[in-house]
Amino acid sequence: MAIKFSSIICALLAVTGFKLSGATPAPAPDYPFQPVPFTAVHLDDIFWAPRLETNRVTTIPYAFGKCEASGRMDNFTRAAAVLRGESNADRKLPGYPFDDSDPYKVLEGAAYSLAVQPDAKLSGYVDNLVLLIASAQEPDGYLYTARTIDPQHPHPWSGTQRWVNDPDESHELYDAGHLFEAAAAHYQATGETNFLNVAIKEADLLCKTFGPATNQLHYWPGHEIVEMGLAKLYRVTGNVRYLDLAKYFIDVRGTRPGGDDYHQSRIPPVKQASAVGHAVRAGYLYSGMADVAALTGDQDYLRAMDAIWANVVGKKLYVTGGIGARPDGEAFGSNYELPNLTAYNETCAAVANVYWNQRLFLLHGDAKYVDVLERTLYNGLLSGISLDGTKFFYPNPLASKGDYERSAWFGCACCPGNLTRFLPSLPGYVYAQRQDEIFVNLFVGGKADIKLDDGRKIILTQQTAYPWDGAVRISVEPERKTSFTLSIRIPGWARNEPVPGDLYRFAETNATPVTLKVDGKKVNFTVENGYAKLDRRWRPGDVVELNLPMPVRRVLANSKVKADAGRVALQRGPVVFCAEATDNPGGKVLDLVLPDSQPLAAKFEPALLNGVEVIKGRALDADRTEQDFTAIPYYAWANRGKGEMAVWFSDSETALRKP
Ligand SMILES: [Zn+2]
Repeated sequence: MAIKFSSIICALLAVTGFKLSGATPAPAPDYPFQPVPFTAVHLDDIFWAPRLETNRVTTIPYAFGKCEASGRMDNFTRAAAVLRGESNADRKLPGYPFDDSDPYKVLEGAAYSLAVQPDAKLSGYVDNLVLLIASAQEPDGYLYTARTIDPQHPHPWSGTQRWVNDPDESHELYDAGHLFEAAAAHYQATGETNFLNVAIKEADLLCKTFGPATNQLHYWPGHEIVEMGLAKLYRVTGNVRYLDLAKYFIDVRGTRPGGDDYHQSRIPPVKQASAVGHAVRAGYLYSGMADVAALTGDQDYLRAMDAIWANVVGKKLYVTGGIGARPDGEAFGSNYELPNLTAYNETCAAVANVYWNQRLFLLHGDAKYVDVLERTLYNGLLSGISLDGTKFFYPNPLASKGDYERSAWFGCACCPGNLTRFLPSLPGYVYAQRQDEIFVNLFVGGKADIKLDDGRKIILTQQTAYPWDGAVRISVEPERKTSFTLSIRIPGWARNEPVPGDLYRFAETNATPVTLKVDGKKVNFTVENGYAKLDRRWRPGDVVELNLPMPVRRVLANSKVKADAGRVALQRGPVVFCAEATDNPGGKVLDLVLPDSQPLAAKFEPALLNGVEVIKGRALDADRTEQDFTAIPYYAWANRGKGEMAVWFSDSETALRKP
């Protein structure tokens, strides 16, 4: 199927709030800072481009195959048979009431992938899957195979009637949210409206069913994401009822008795000031709130989000960017409750953390959110997938006794699908723009075609070996000499601040300065909201050279984090390191002591783990004998079999204890 380029432009324009025809209405409000769309950014770097290619050629087909093998596609076939009135239709129900969401997520990833890389085989598969999904939709728009397959005996979590169990565990609105996300992505990628129409039909049903009127249901969604999905559908269609319903779902949450922290429903979200409960649900709620705040200008949402974000970043964030400390309830822990061995850090929660921080950046234009995003991206999110793209972590702990490794799939398969859909959208996180200002948020080699609000076209080309090397070369190609501001993020880690706030700090201050040159001449700069702002008249062929020194850094946690007391972690650039059994003598790393005085050096190993920087030095083993010490990037652990792993090391014998 050919990609319809003009339709992509229409869809992207719709996303940014502009209308194509007629008189020019004032643009609808949206994020004041806009991402440069992923379709305009082509990555060719050594780190991400191969991963995106692995996702396209391996993970997407693999995940579709797993959805087939586990019966997730058959659920749609069975539901369609029942809808056609076939009397002997097989009534086997999905294993989980949210199994429908997995094909939606992989389809979303396929759509993103197709938008930047045509693939006839994948495109044909997607076409057939859309037909299959559409065939399982009930005439009024309801789409939920866990009931349609056997309405008299639906899935035990589903409740006897539509929606009655949604505030708890039916996941009807969760499935709908993922459907909306996938359909919006599919429309943007292909310009085809067939899948979008399925989503619109269900969204219209939701608008009729839920709302403040007495003849409507006043439920809140048990597992958030429909809020984000509705916001996306509003951007694509311009139908304000979808935005109104997204806001309604947020505002109704916690307004009647029976709510709880697990579902973020004990009190209304606008009154919440700390992150509680199931971390994935929470991250999706906060992301949905950011969308609605951007689209409506609601200040109460912004205030609540600022408070919740400060709580997470100041007290509940792992050094890997992971969130959700407790396995029990897959939930946020108390303040400073950040155990390492039992850290839950669901991969989906890392994806949600990236979504949320990107949205907060788009609201505020402050690089501190990108600092958190980058930390999560290179560490606690990327660890979720094996280097070959076919194995996945659900929890991402920061220590292991050697009994844990990635799985090929899960009964509850939320995490693989989330990685599959996130990775191909990554190019959309590299740049952003506002009026005549362009933001370089991430350092990834490749080319971006950027169009400023007034139509001026600028091509930026990044060359870098980031995250292994902090040298970044950006060539600037405006059509002709022109003035605009190029705002280059100076990462917190390069300014002696691992994360905003005081949860983590570097043991030593790095005195080597960040340098910036334009056309070979050093530029003095100040950092404003985390950016070096180069406001000048740019000529075609201008070159910006950024150098971010990348020494090996020891990281210390706030003394209130008991699990990390007397311990250090290692970071170089944005990458957090860990020691794995296979690289260290004796295969024991949990009891290693890494004295502060020990010099540590980094070296690139091209043949190891698809090419990684490793940190080497000397440590003391459990018998206090000195031995060689090797650490690898945390994201790459458990790609060579099971074994002990540690991120935090005792820095003196007296502090030595089990993690
Ligand atoms: Zn998950």
